[in-house]
Amino acid sequence: MVYLLFANPNYSWLLLLLLFGITTTVSLLWIRRERKLLRSLQELIAEENQETLVFPLRNPTDTKEALSTLFQKRKEEHQQMHRLENYRREYIGNVAHELKTPIFSIQGYIDSVIDDPLLDRKTIELFLSKANKNADRLGEIVNDLDTITKHESGTLMLHLEPFDMRILLSENLEMLELQAKKKNISLHIIAPENSYMVLGDRARIAQVITNLGLNSIRYGNEKGASRFTLSSTGTKVIFEVADNGIGIPHEQQSRVFERFYRVDKHRNRSTGGSGLGLSICKHIVEAHGEKIELISTEGAGSVFRFSLRLPDHL
Ligand code: ADP
Repeated sequence: MVYLLFANPNYSWLLLLLLFGITTTVSLLWIRRERKLLRSLQELIAEENQETLVFPLRNPTDTKEALSTLFQKRKEEHQQMHRLENYRREYIGNVAHELKTPIFSIQGYIDSVIDDPLLDRKTIELFLSKANKNADRLGEIVNDLDTITKHESGTLMLHLEPFDMRILLSENLEMLELQAKKKNISLHIIAPENSYMVLGDRARIAQVITNLGLNSIRYGNEKGASRFTLSSTGTKVIFEVADNGIGIPHEQQSRVFERFYRVDKHRNRSTGGSGLGLSICKHIVEAHGEKIELISTEGAGSVFRFSLRLPDHL
């Protein structure tokens, strides 16, 4: 039948025209559908990227690229959420673990006093003073946690001012003398120049000196020595604290600045550390735009070092 129609030249033109018309219409409908789909996708991308969609439409290759960027972004966000969730879980676990020890001790001493009405006054005083020490420890942990949270959320502001590191060091070592005496550790300042002016947050740097100094005593040997050295490079002042204590194994040296990290968990619990001190030091030094360094040999001792800029070398 179709063959007969084509055989007749009068109809064949008509049929060709008809076929052309149908093909064009179908193609146009198809292109319209595709464009609609493309448009919807582009609206979605624009909405996701919080931008307004502008004409003319981008071509399919651009859309494909935009989509793949969007998927990549979503994937990264998902991974980040996963990391944060793990971090949150681990953080809460660590905090609970740290708080448990002093809380249980306080409860234990107070229960002993309540449960035994025949306790003599001396023992009661001893138990209460031990409970009091643990309450202080609880306060210290909470303060450390507060400092870390402020640093990590970026809400802790530095109050930069010029000050003399030599004076700050002497003031802080006076406070460490008592702890050092208990272990017969001698504290030495090596600072040949009269003054070491720097620009920094005096109170925060004092906290770093105290934390590093306390560690040099805590992990230092009985009858050992802690050396606090100041030197100047012309643009910076370098602070160093060295002990001849137990040292830190090489493979753990990069981890000691992580919060709650302890080299030997069992050993450090008896020294009263929470594993937050070095993490706080790192945050404070880095907030000053500097780095804290560690050189240590197991069994021989450790050196912690950081620098601060001179007031006129911003
Ligand atoms: P902590 O409160 O437990 O002392 P820090 O964050 O100050 O926590 O230190 C983390 C760990 O690094 C400590 O538990 C200890 O194992 C190790 N450490 C820190 N300073 C020294 C040091 N001077 N010598 C040996 N080990 C150290």
